[in-house]
Amino acid sequence: MEDLLKQWDGENLFIRFHHPSGAWIFMAIHSTKLGPPVSGGTRMKFYPDRKAALQDALKLSAAMTSKLALSGIAHGGGKVVIALPPNFDSAMRPDLLRSYGTLLQQIGGLFLTGPDVGTSPEDMNIIAETGDPYVFSRTPEAGGAGDSGPGTAIGVLAAIRVTCNQLFSTNSAASKRILIQGTGNVGRALIEMLQADGAEVLFSEVDKAAIQHFRDEVGLQFIPSAEIYNTPCDIFSPCALGGVLNAQTIPHLQCRAVVGSANNQLAHPTDAELLRHRDILYAPDIAINIGGLMSIIGMESEGWSQPEAFERVTIIVDRTLQQVYQLAATEDIDTHTAALHIAHQRLAAAKPKGKNTTLFIEQW
Ligand code: NAD
Repeated sequence: MEDLLKQWDGENLFIRFHHPSGAWIFMAIHSTKLGPPVSGGTRMKFYPDRKAALQDALKLSAAMTSKLALSGIAHGGGKVVIALPPNFDSAMRPDLLRSYGTLLQQIGGLFLTGPDVGTSPEDMNIIAETGDPYVFSRTPEAGGAGDSGPGTAIGVLAAIRVTCNQLFSTNSAASKRILIQGTGNVGRALIEMLQADGAEVLFSEVDKAAIQHFRDEVGLQFIPSAEIYNTPCDIFSPCALGGVLNAQTIPHLQCRAVVGSANNQLAHPTDAELLRHRDILYAPDIAINIGGLMSIIGMESEGWSQPEAFERVTIIVDRTLQQVYQLAATEDIDTHTAALHIAHQRLAAAKPKGKNTTLFIEQW
């Protein structure tokens, strides 16, 4: 694992081994340039091995730094990955979450967290038993703003509209054929929003109950996993897994654009160039999937109402993605590289943060 750390340009890594369950907690603090605090979700899942879990934490933490810089939020970027052992006893879950809450408490507010893949607002309630006040997105009954999926979906919707404007000269997704991969917290909220916009929505899933719901009850066209990368559509929207845009899948894509919520959609940064060569417009995940975090922090610490939070997310994602598309066109570069340029510029210009600062980077 030493090689991974040597290649990583982040600041700190905290590791906790939870003896009772055999789970590993990797907390990667990538950058405090725009913080403290440092923000990032908590991902909990099975990995092939500890190295894969650490790699995920390091990569996701770097993406968080870029994401926060792009959206103008004055927080540093980080991520926590909890790697479950193959024989994990789910009865140990609350104890594991409380142990993680204690770690948040021990590092004294450097890191603020919320849910990510494998964790929920209910889990945040448990983490907060020991980690309060450093935990966002608890359930409304526990005083939190709940699920971040709808806030993320509203940002993806804004990005879809910007992309429609770019490609089809219309600000609406109406009558566009949009294929969503994954109908979880983000995907199912996005489906509702797109249907309200008049889009033709297709979906792909692996969960049987979700397939049954969206195919048989909602009446959407289901695309089996084996066909997803060669199904014709206007926009492909990855809302499930990372790494889905790669040298194997990109040659098959039959879409005009890729706009989705999944983190680290490109298996490798150079895959953005492959998309460009195929004339597929890519809305970089780091530029468009901040909505959940931003709306939850806004509602819980800044007193925004949900409509206000959604409006702010829409404005920020709209503005950011337009800047990205514009820079990519002017410089004749891929959109992922353009997004990173903008993020790096903001980080380079960051001033040391005082105590009483606002949620957004000053003068932004
Ligand atoms: P989730 O776990 O609630 O949903 C993911 C869904 O994808 C599940 O229904 C799962 O069954 C499905 N899925 C898994 N493998 C699949 C496959 N091969 N094909 C089709 N479907 C598959 O996750 P979420 O909260 O909806 O997040 C979705 C993605 O967006 C993740 O990559 C997450 O990191 C990213 N993201 C989420 C948020 C948020 O606020 N929830 C914020 C930023 C980024």
